[in-house]
Amino acid sequence: MNDQDPASVEKTLESRPTLESEINSARINALELKLETLSVITESLWNIIQENNLECSADLKDKMADVIDQRAKRDSIKVNCKACGNEQKASASYCNHCGNKLEYSGDISPFDY
Ligand SMILES: [Zn+2]
Repeated sequence: MNDQDPASVEKTLESRPTLESEINSARINALELKLETLSVITESLWNIIQENNLECSADLKDKMADVIDQRAKRDSIKVNCKACGNEQKASASYCNHCGNKLEYSGDISPFDY
C-alpha cells in the first residue's frame, strides 16, 4: 500500500487523460473541422450567388425540405466500424462507439463532412 493522501492520488488521476476524454477530444476536433468546412461552403455559395447576380426568390422552405429528404436517404446508408464492428452511418467520419476513423468509399455528398 502506498501512503499518498487521497487528494494527491485524485490529482494524479485527473492529469492522466482517460481513453474516453481522448475520444471526446478527437470528437471536438472533428466537430471544429466540420464547422469550419460548413462555414467555407456557406461563404463559397454566397459568393457564387453574388457573382452571378442570381435572384434568391426560390422557395427556401421547399429547397430545405428537398435537402432534408436527400440527407435522410444518405443517412440510411450504414457501415460497420473495422475496429469495433459497431454499425455506423456511412456519412460519419468517426465511429461514435470507439472513435475509430470510418472509411466509406461510396457516394457521399460534400455536405456529409
Ligand atoms: Zn468503432
